[in-house]
Amino acid sequence: DREVDEASAEGLLRMAAASETDVRVPDYVGFEAYRQAGGYQLLQRVRDGALATDEIIAVLGDAGLKGLGGAGFPAGKKWQFVRSYPGPRLMSINGDEGEPGTFKDRIYLERDPHRTLEGALIAAHAVEAERIYFYMRDEYPAVLAILRAEIAALEAAGIASPGFIELRRGAGAYICGEESAMLESIEGRRGMPRHRPPYIAEVGLFGRPTLNHNVETLWWIRDIVEKGPSWFAGLGKPGHPGIRSWSVSGRVKEPGVKLAPAGVTVRELIEDYCGGMADGHEFKAYLPGGASGGVLPASLGDIPLDFGGELAKQGAFVGSHAVVVFSQADNIRDVTLNLMNFFKHESCGKCTPCREGTEKLVTLLKEQGSLNEIAIRDLEIVMRDSSICGLGQAAPNPVNHLLTHFRGDL
Ligand code: SF4
Repeated sequence: DREVDEASAEGLLRMAAASETDVRVPDYVGFEAYRQAGGYQLLQRVRDGALATDEIIAVLGDAGLKGLGGAGFPAGKKWQFVRSYPGPRLMSINGDEGEPGTFKDRIYLERDPHRTLEGALIAAHAVEAERIYFYMRDEYPAVLAILRAEIAALEAAGIASPGFIELRRGAGAYICGEESAMLESIEGRRGMPRHRPPYIAEVGLFGRPTLNHNVETLWWIRDIVEKGPSWFAGLGKPGHPGIRSWSVSGRVKEPGVKLAPAGVTVRELIEDYCGGMADGHEFKAYLPGGASGGVLPASLGDIPLDFGGELAKQGAFVGSHAVVVFSQADNIRDVTLNLMNFFKHESCGKCTPCREGTEKLVTLLKEQGSLNEIAIRDLEIVMRDSSICGLGQAAPNPVNHLLTHFRGDL
């Protein structure tokens, strides 16, 4: 950590300059192509009053669109909450995508950025936001180049007034994916989560009611409104409305972003979407939701993956839909230690249970041969009950699962 902290400012500036000039931008649907294919007509209808905000909220509710950054909060309800507080209001887009194993937002923005931008402008209109702050992960230089160019194209076409969409670069802190820490970062402070209440719908950016959405959530808005809520809801499994973008990695033949129904199982993802396990590997375990969603054994590989439900009963969650698959070649204690080191590094340090707890869990896990299970279980409870934000509350999940399901790996 210290080496990173002490890297010279000059070196960092050189890296930043290199990333500006050496960016390889992939082929994507630019402004003209998007508009020729009917893009921004929906926004125009919304702005003309041909489609009322309440109608869109009802459509999003019927479709079952939830926040796809990880929290799964119903999108339309969020609009209602923000609208219920007096203006002026603001909007933010969370493009930080820092959850390990998650790369779906990058794919959407590198291929079809205007779907997210049109969804954002519709949402901003709905809550009468005065400005949109687009917080984008700096590790995606191609996305930043694309967004700069396409926001400029929107401004040139008069679809967004100059400065209405303000692009902000993140600086690599995992915690800045947490919405209130992201707002702190946008405001120019160190990224640390805020105490809630008040929630950001009431007191958000610069003290104003703020609508915050993940990139992918906004990406779906145009399709859902144009094709109808039953189209989207019907793409899911029974009882699990909607389609989701699963970032699948690990010991599978064909990793990548897979469009599959909400409620799909990991076994189906592996077999039907990823070409099966990689040669020589047998399915042993998986992360259903990145680093924080826990680690489950293959024997629980047939539970539907969705927000809440069976997964929650196992003390796990689907979060940003990052599925990492492990095989007999992977020791789950090592996996867990890796995850805990990550949390230790990324803990912002604001609250004691997480700052100290993540470090102590690493120490306890490293104790060879004499794992102090009572201390670990104690620490789990304290962190879960008293950490300020999701990082500290969820950090013990993999440890809990290690002790419950993978004792053979200790
Ligand atoms: Fe920071 Fe961890 Fe506390 Fe969240 S739980 S505020 S990351 S110290």
